[in-house]
Parts: sequence; C-alpha cells; structure tokens
Amino acid sequence: MIYKRSSELFAAAKKVIPGGVNSPVRAFNAVGGEPLFIKEAKGAYMYDEDGNKYIDYINSWGPLILGHAFEPVVNAVVEKAIKGTSFGTPTEIETTIAELAVSMVPNIDQIRFVNSGTEACMSAVRLARGFKNREKIIKFAGCYHGHSDSFLIQAGSGAITFGTPNSPGVTEGTAKDTLLAVYNDLDSVKDLLEANKEEIACIILEPIAGNMGCIPPKEGFLEGLREMCDEYGVLLIFDEVMTGFRLARGGAQELTGVDADIVCFGKVIGGGLPVGAFAARQEIMDHLAPNGPVYQAGTLSGNPLAMAAGLAMLTELNNSPEIYTSLAEKTEYLHKGISKVLTENKVTHTINRKGSMISVHFAEEVVVDFTSAAKGNNDTFKKFFHGLLENGIYIAPSAFETWFLTDALTYEDLDATIAAIEKVSKTF
Ligand SMILES: *Cc1c(COP(=O)(O)O)cnc(C)c1O
Repeated sequence: MIYKRSSELFAAAKKVIPGGVNSPVRAFNAVGGEPLFIKEAKGAYMYDEDGNKYIDYINSWGPLILGHAFEPVVNAVVEKAIKGTSFGTPTEIETTIAELAVSMVPNIDQIRFVNSGTEACMSAVRLARGFKNREKIIKFAGCYHGHSDSFLIQAGSGAITFGTPNSPGVTEGTAKDTLLAVYNDLDSVKDLLEANKEEIACIILEPIAGNMGCIPPKEGFLEGLREMCDEYGVLLIFDEVMTGFRLARGGAQELTGVDADIVCFGKVIGGGLPVGAFAARQEIMDHLAPNGPVYQAGTLSGNPLAMAAGLAMLTELNNSPEIYTSLAEKTEYLHKGISKVLTENKVTHTINRKGSMISVHFAEEVVVDFTSAAKGNNDTFKKFFHGLLENGIYIAPSAFETWFLTDALTYEDLDATIAAIEKVSKTF
C-alpha cells in the first residue's frame, strides 16, 4: 500500500502538534512507522487520505459499536446543529437521555454528563472522596481511567505503550493517595484495605479490563471486591467507559450481576461525540453541586450535539438488544478463526474475549493481569500489526489494546480478516 499523502500530512502535523497527534495512542511509536490519516469512513470500513480501504477494528477506540457514520446518529446531530450547538442552559434532550440511561443501567438513580471518560472517572473519584470523607483510592496496575493525576500510576493503555505508566508531572502528594493492587488478585486488595483502614474512599476498576488488552475478571473476583467494599465501608466504582453499553445494555453490572456504587461512562454513550458521564444512587449523587458540596462543572457538558448523538445511539441499543448477541457471536467466530490459523502456523498466542472485546496476546501463558500481559512478544506483535495493515485490516497500534467489533462487520469481513491473519502468520 502507498501512504504518501498520510506521510506528508504527518510531517505537517508534527510541526504544529506534539508528535503530530492529539492523543498519543494514535501515534505508531510502539510499532514503528507513521500513523494513517483517515479521510472518511462508513460502516465497518475506513478510507485513508491515499484512498486505501481498511476493515476497522478500533472504531474510534470503542464508541462506534454500530459502525462509522451510523445514520440515525448522523441525522440526529445534523438536525440539532441547525438549531444551535450550545446554549449553556438546561435543554430537554439532557433529561431524555438521562432517563433512558437510568432505565438501561442497574443501580443508578441519577447521571451527570461530562465531556470525556477522563472527566467521568476524575469526577467519580472526587465524589467518592467527598461522600466518604476519605482520601485514598485503590486502583489496579494496568487499568486505565483517563489521564487525570490520580490515575497515572501504573496506568494501562497508551501509558504502558509509551513506557510512562507513572507520568512525570503527577505530584508525590497525589501519587501517595493512589494505592495499587493486582488485577484478579483479591489478596492484594485485602492487604491494602487492612493496612489503610478508614482511609480508603473507593476502589476503581475496569470490571472487564480492556486497557492491557482484554482481560476478563476471574470467577469471584468482582463478587469478592463487592464483599470487601461492604466490609470496609468503601465505595466500588466500575469504570465502564469501555464496557458500558458495549457488553450489554446495562454494561458489566448487568453482565456479571455485581453491583457498583458509582459507574463511569464514555465512548459508546456519546455515539462518537465527546461525552462521558458518571452515575450513582440518589444518596451519593446528592453530594454533587449544586445540591451538595462536591464541585464539578463543564461549559459544554450536555451540549445538544453530543446529547443528540448519544441519545440516538442508546435508543438504537435499547430497542435492539439482539445486537449484543450478534456482536458476541461475530467475536466468537473471529476468535475461533484466528485461533485456528495461528495454531496451524505454530504461533504462540493467547486470545482473551468478552462480548465484542477481543485481544490477541502473543504470550505463552494465560493473561490475567498486567504482569502476564506484559510478557507478550512485542516483536511478533509489530509484524502482526504491519502485516495486517498492509492487508487492509486496521487494529490498534499497541499490544495493550483491545479490538472493538462493530455490528456493521459482516461474516465476509471476518473471513477476510482471518485470511489476512493466516497470510501474515506464515511470515513470522
Ligand atoms: C478510554 C477510557 C477512559 C478515558 O476516556 P477518554 O474519553 O479518553 O478521556 C477511561 N477509562 C477507560 C476504561 C477507558 O477505556
């Protein structure tokens, strides 16, 4: 494939934008080469500035669960835009989407909309601290909760990819209040709770991890966390920025039957526009300004365009829950196909999958936490990534990212993907 125009655009971008990108995960630093500049996309396909076509397994890193330029979303945004893009006042559509979200997700009475997943998680933790009047939090190595200070401690996603899980610029004062546990290891959590009694406000985690590749919780892990939170009087925060409205209408709470105290959203809830949200039961949300003392705000929060996109997306998912079955079946089909060709070509691998999230780890052992995820062979991943790209398959340029399936994918697309993987795996 020829990437001439992408390359020229990247050179121009690098002069005026740090690294040429507005989010580091878009850069190809971990795999080598230069990022593609995308011109347009429709359904399961993206087209770059050189006219190359790709089957897309990133889908804007999760939001586009029904494919690119999904018509109900596009139409809703266009209709709203004509009437004004933001008023900085309440609008009816905010209540409409809030009512719908509250009806779809278990255990929440109220929801506050923000502009990104980062804001959602940052605000949720502030709320938990304000509610409990405690300062420390527990997070898990390899989980990513956005780029706010408290979370850039052994963070996953781009932070691991770029080798800065603990970012400079985060003060020691902030870092000392973030305690680190091991994913899928209840004992590591118990130890922290015991050693910091009455000091921990909340435990935050990705209920199905997706930012160190896909890592589902072991049986009993989430249940165990719930029990410990109750025992120690700690709030349990599910960061469902990735999993919310993706794994089920009600997200991981519905899927696993485990109740969280605060839930964070992003990605799918905005249908491809910048939206995040956090939600909880009344008693907790009452602590938020203007009703309570915990401050949180946003000039463009709940703006009509973002709400229109989100509402159109959630409406579609709410009305057609069979989408989740169809997505899970497609993902299983892909899993089996990839597994078969990699095994036939003697490529060491482990595939993790949950619903429409899947990741191929070039690791020998099962991948259950950050340490085991980091054991994957990155040289193999690089060849895999570039080989697939050359064959028109676009996956994330990092071994620590999940693939996101969209329902726009056909079985022919999946077969083409498996065939490309077969071809590429012969070259390892
Ligand atoms: C993407 C992501 C975030 C951050 O969301 P942004 O919209 O990128 O700020 C937080 N948590 C999880 C689990 C995510 O996957």
